[in-house]
Amino acid sequence: MKITVIGAGYVGLVSAACFSDFGYEVTCVDRDPRKLAALESGKIPIYEQGLEPIVAANRAAGRLTFTDNLKDAVAQADVVLIAVGTPTREGEGGADLSYVFAAGEEIARAMKGFTVIITKSTVPVGTAAKLREVIAKARPDGDFEVASNPEFMREGSAVEDFLRPDRVVVGVNSERAEKVLRQLYRPLTTRNVPLLVTSCEAAEVIKYAANTFLATRIAFVNELADLCETVGADIEDVARGMGLDKRIGLQFLSPGPGFGGSCFPKDTRALAHTARQHGRPFSLVERVIAANEARKLALADRVEQAVDGTLSGKRIAILGIAFKAETDDIRDAAALTLIPELQKRGASVAAFDPVAMDNARQALTAVQWCADAYSAAIGADAAVILTEWNVFRGLDLQRLARDMRQPVLVDFRNLFSIADAANSGMTYHSIGRTSVIPAGSQTADVIPFKSEAV
Ligand code: NAD
Repeated sequence: MKITVIGAGYVGLVSAACFSDFGYEVTCVDRDPRKLAALESGKIPIYEQGLEPIVAANRAAGRLTFTDNLKDAVAQADVVLIAVGTPTREGEGGADLSYVFAAGEEIARAMKGFTVIITKSTVPVGTAAKLREVIAKARPDGDFEVASNPEFMREGSAVEDFLRPDRVVVGVNSERAEKVLRQLYRPLTTRNVPLLVTSCEAAEVIKYAANTFLATRIAFVNELADLCETVGADIEDVARGMGLDKRIGLQFLSPGPGFGGSCFPKDTRALAHTARQHGRPFSLVERVIAANEARKLALADRVEQAVDGTLSGKRIAILGIAFKAETDDIRDAAALTLIPELQKRGASVAAFDPVAMDNARQALTAVQWCADAYSAAIGADAAVILTEWNVFRGLDLQRLARDMRQPVLVDFRNLFSIADAANSGMTYHSIGRTSVIPAGSQTADVIPFKSEAV
């Protein structure tokens, strides 16, 4: 089976590499010359653990190639996976499908013989049906099927997630498409990975439903944390007490600065948009989106209160830019809301992230980029942890505080226990827990998030 993957981004590159690792011949197409040049020279353009050796081994074995020539890559393929971006469209929050349909038209013109075209991109319900129309219009003589195969990998563990997924979902509307998809995933199903065959429509909804449900858990625990702060309960105890219930589980119950990244914000918006479009507004999801956006906007208030109520002339050290640990992805990261707001209110910002600084330099201005957390903290009035990088978990807080103007730590990821924070001598504000205020400090002990009016 010859596979062509359109898009060499987080999903396309990992999928192409892993399919080639199963022994398939895979061509990965991208139109970004910088990405292709990096891949051609053996470099991986994204930070994703475990990806580099798989790409290198399969390139060396001749099973994985990269090209910008979509026409030739599609002409020789039995299966074409579309893994291009589906960002939020300007306006009402729906998904921008222009890249998917543009790829569809190019595929239509190039395909030869029976071809199965699969959407791996996250696409709203009805997209497979529309793609079928687009392709049939461009190639009335074309022998093809369209299938929907949403991807559930997480950045940071994408290779592991691809090779050992909880399940594979394939949406098909014909038996011959099902046969090809079953064959494609044989390397996983023979290892007992469940393969769920549904309609294209159900597969498309499953992906949005899964992401929105996880985002809802995060929004829930975040607002619960705000309540805990006010009533004096520790959110870490509360979340653990909830999560040990097998019906609930512990995952996605960590409070933080609000969900970000390339998926949850855009997918919640797109699902809400789809629901509105079909006259079935999804009020719960609308609330999750609003609560999350309000939370990100309120981060600056919390930092401001931690530095005595004014940011003007203050220096803030930001630790972590990536939207979560183990990725260089900064799309919709809390840092992109917080840092410009701190600057607008008169603060100067120094920052460090272990892998996301190259991307961050292009998205943020007037930030002093530092070599590590300790140098970012020099002269700072507060250090703010935004990303749960392991390298921050072991920070020596006394050393961090030593060169700061004010020894204040705002920890939006609850990386430290209250006991450790108390031993450090720093003023320590976290989420959903009582703040640690060393004797003699003037700072208020609880700094509540401003919640959005319902
Ligand atoms: P990305 O932006 O990292 O990569 C998309 C790539 O497609 C880019 O390199 C771009 O140059 C290329 N491209 C666009 N149009 C093209 C065309 N016509 N021909 C060739 N190349 C083209 O995006 P991503 O994060 O990999 O996401 C892709 C899709 O997968 C999205 O729909 C996303 O929602 C979904 N998804 C992403 C993740 C994730 O963790 N990033 C997980 C599951 C699903």
